[in-house]
Amino acid sequence: MATKTGQCLCGAVKLTANNVPSTFNICYCDMCKRWAGGRWMGIYIANQDLELTGKDAVTALATSDWAERAFCNKCGSSLWYKVTDGPYSDGYSIGVGLLNDTSDLTLDTEYYTDRKTHAYDFPDGRKQMTEAEVLAFFVPAEEGEPE
Ligand SMILES: [Zn+2]
Ligand SMILES: [Zn+2]
Repeated sequence: MATKTGQCLCGAVKLTANNVPSTFNICYCDMCKRWAGGRWMGIYIANQDLELTGKDAVTALATSDWAERAFCNKCGSSLWYKVTDGPYSDGYSIGVGLLNDTSDLTLDTEYYTDRKTHAYDFPDGRKQMTEAEVLAFFVPAEEGEPE
């Protein structure tokens, strides 16, 4: 578990993350594709392990009743996906591209693989979950769409 620093494109938002895992995930859902320009590459950071500066430059958009996507309102960089309600609201999915050093990170799971752009594939061995599998895993039956 490492400590890593990062920032958005313009530098208005800076972060220090503690206890950073060595793996990240990718999401190909339609909302992530539009928000992040093709796919979301996120790394889990627990709420208490994220220190942010430049919060005035952060706009968090509630993209469902239970999750938000945040971006820098100066430069447009995608910052995080965060579940805001329920058992998975204990952390952030921070954009891997914000981090200054990603040299030790490896890909763990691909979400919404049935929604991905099929122009490329990663080598075998990744955990892959379709939209239906993601919904079944993360969303209580009565909650509806996760996006
Ligand atoms: Zn920025
Ligand atoms: Zn997504």
